Amino acid sequence: YHLLAIETSCDETSVAIVRDGTEVLSNVVSSQIETHRRFGGVVPEIASRKHVESMTVILEEAVAAAGVTLSDIDAVAVTQGPGLVGALLVGVVAAKSLALALDVPLIGTHHIAGHIYANRLIGRIEYPALALVVSGGHTELVLLESEGSFNIIGRTRDDAVGEAYDKVARALSLPYPGGPHVDRLAQEAAEAIELPRAWLEPDSYDFSFSGLKSAVLAEINRSNMKGKPIDAAALARGFQESVIDVVTAKAMRAASEFGVRQLLLCGGVAANRGLRERLASLCEAANLPLLVPPMSLCTDNAAMIAAAADLKWRRGEFDSLDMKAEPQLSLEDWSVRST
Ligand code: ATP
Ligand code: MG
Ligand code: FE
Repeated sequence: YHLLAIETSCDETSVAIVRDGTEVLSNVVSSQIETHRRFGGVVPEIASRKHVESMTVILEEAVAAAGVTLSDIDAVAVTQGPGLVGALLVGVVAAKSLALALDVPLIGTHHIAGHIYANRLIGRIEYPALALVVSGGHTELVLLESEGSFNIIGRTRDDAVGEAYDKVARALSLPYPGGPHVDRLAQEAAEAIELPRAWLEPDSYDFSFSGLKSAVLAEINRSNMKGKPIDAAALARGFQESVIDVVTAKAMRAASEFGVRQLLLCGGVAANRGLRERLASLCEAANLPLLVPPMSLCTDNAAMIAAAADLKWRRGEFDSLDMKAEPQLSLEDWSVRST
C-alpha cells in the first residue's frame, strides 16, 4: 500500500511516499533555513507563509519522484503536533483536503514518534527499546516497551540540546542553525575548555543545559574583558564534550536499568559526529545494538512521519476530517492501541 506523508511542524516543508510502511519511494524536503538565517532563528509567521507557497510544488515533486500517481495513494499521514501552530495547520489542511479528495483515511502523527520511528526505515526495532531523542525542541529518553508505546523516563528541564547548540553558536557568531558549525569546530579543536556537567539528582534521567550555556557565555565575557581573543574551537569542544558525556551516560544507564535490547538515536542533533561516534563505541563495549538514521532522516522529513503513521495504519486507527493541529500534542497520548 502507498502512504503519502506530510511534515510542516517547523521550517521544513516535506512530502514523502512510502510503500508498505518502510520502503521510501520519495522524500522531498524543502528547507527554509536560508529565509530564516538573517533573523537568527525561525520566524513563525514567515514559516507558515513559506509552507503555503511550497506545499503544492513539493507534493507534485514527491508524487512524480516516487513514480506513482495520486490515485495510487491509500492513506494520507500528517504531523499533527507538536510544533508551531501556524506551520502545522498548513500541513493538516493539505492532508485533509487530499484525504477527502482521494477518499482515503487520514492519520494524524506525532512529530517525535516520527523522529524515533525514522529508525524503522533502516532496520528492525527490537523491544523493549530505548530512544535518545535529541532535537531542536526536545531532549528525552523514551522507553518503548512494545511497538508504538512511549514512556518518557527523562526530559530536559530547560533548553533542548539543539537549542543549546544554536545559542552557543550564536554567541560565537556562527551562522544559524549553529549545531553543525559547533560540531565542526569541536572536531578541529586542539584542546577543550573544561565546562560543567549537569548530572542533576543521582537517579534522575532528566537533563539541563541552560547552566552549560551560561558557562559558555561567561567564558566569552571573560575573554572580552581581558581583551583576549576567544578560542572558539576549544570552547565548542568543551561544550560538545559536556553535552556528549551527560546524554550518553544517562542513555547507557537507562539502557542497562531497563534491560533494553536496542538503543535508537534520533532527532536533528543525532547528525552530530561526536555524539554518533561516542554512542557507537559505548554501545559496542556494552554489546548493545544501536540504530542511527542517516543524516537525511535525522532532521525533519516526511518519510519518518510515514514510518510512525504505518503503526496506526496496520491497526486501522484513523482520524476524522475534523482533526485539529495540536501544537502541544503529547507523545505518550499518541501511543497506538495495544493488540
Ligand atoms: P523538534 O523535532 O524538537 O520539534 P526541530 O524539528 O526544530 O525540533 P530538528 O530538525 O530535529 O529539530 O533538529 C534541528 C536541530 O539539530 C537544530 O538545533 C540544529 O542546530 C541541530 N543540529 C543539526 N546538525 C547538528 C550537528 N551536527 N551537531 C549538533 N546539532 C545539530
Ligand atoms: Mg528544522
Ligand atoms: Fe524535528
